[in-house]
Amino acid sequence: MSEILVLVDHVDGAVRKPTLELLTLARRLGEPSAVFIGDASQGAETLAKHGAEKIYVVDDAEIKPYLVAPKAEVLQQLVEKTSAAAVLIPSSAEGKEIAGRLAIKINSGVITDAVDITADGDTPVATQSVFAGNFTVTGKVTKGTPIITVKPNSAAPEEVGAAGTQEQVSVTISDAAKSAKVIKAEPRKATGRPELTEAAIVVSGGRGTGGDFAPVEGFADSLGAAVGASRAAVDSGWMPHAFQVGQTGKTVSPQLYVAAGISGAIQHRAGMQTSKTIVAINKDEEAPLFELVDFGVVGDLHQVLPAATEAVTAR
Ligand code: FAD
Repeated sequence: MSEILVLVDHVDGAVRKPTLELLTLARRLGEPSAVFIGDASQGAETLAKHGAEKIYVVDDAEIKPYLVAPKAEVLQQLVEKTSAAAVLIPSSAEGKEIAGRLAIKINSGVITDAVDITADGDTPVATQSVFAGNFTVTGKVTKGTPIITVKPNSAAPEEVGAAGTQEQVSVTISDAAKSAKVIKAEPRKATGRPELTEAAIVVSGGRGTGGDFAPVEGFADSLGAAVGASRAAVDSGWMPHAFQVGQTGKTVSPQLYVAAGISGAIQHRAGMQTSKTIVAINKDEEAPLFELVDFGVVGDLHQVLPAATEAVTAR
């Protein structure tokens, strides 16, 4: 069976959910092998539980201080060693840069931001949502080992149980790959909320909040949800850009997306329209987002959200 390499995205050894989604997708194509750059002692069990037959561990102090270039070289050497049939990488900014660098090194094609992968015989077929979500296209890499980056929340991680055999791999990193180094890394202030792109529930606020995000945050916290924002809210300085959902922000695809005081511009829809259930709260019954929603509430968010929070908290 073909070997499919999955680059593991982790935070200090804890495997992030998008990697588990990639393992699920990789099983459609062949036998998934995880590539763990760092100390895998914490994450190996999770990877095996989600279908990694092999785990290549590259725990090399030499790589740690550097940015993405050494990671592309690690993958290059593993593709050559294993003759892998495809490489799957999470679609973060870092993941896409690694994918591009790897494609050049191994003379392959790359597809970024896939939202689904199926198999056509031995060839992976990637689905992308393009032009602000107006078109869905499917594509194949026609040259070399296909490299595909996949957006978070594109598949539900499945627990299947696999061998998870670990193999320590040593790699040679070129001097060129060491030309940019991390000088300082500051952890983001912890909010206690889930990461926006990984959350099962997202509650977003827009210009209709008038800058008061307390009702949005209160409702989000009652549901254990992440908080998002429209660009209008971000441009007004009410929320940081990291919270922006949409074409020039993050793409989310949660089980439940609640948009409060957001009109539903196409650029906002581009970042949330694949959510499983969409709820809008807007005082204008003609707001375009109501065309897209599963449930709509016509009303003032400053009244609707506190009432909804109270109802959820009382359960
Ligand atoms: P508005 O369109 O002003 O809508 C506010 C809504 O709040 C209205 O529908 C109003 O009826 C409602 N409202 C007002 N008061 C209340 C109340 N008290 N209770 C309930 N409802 C109320 N936008 C994004 O969001 N994300 C992007 O990534 C993004 N990228 C862009 C990229 C480009 C190149 C361009 C040109 C635009 C982009 N935009 C993006 C901007 C986008 O076009 C819209 O301007 C923006 O989404 C509007 O934000 P909004 O819905 O919060 O504001």
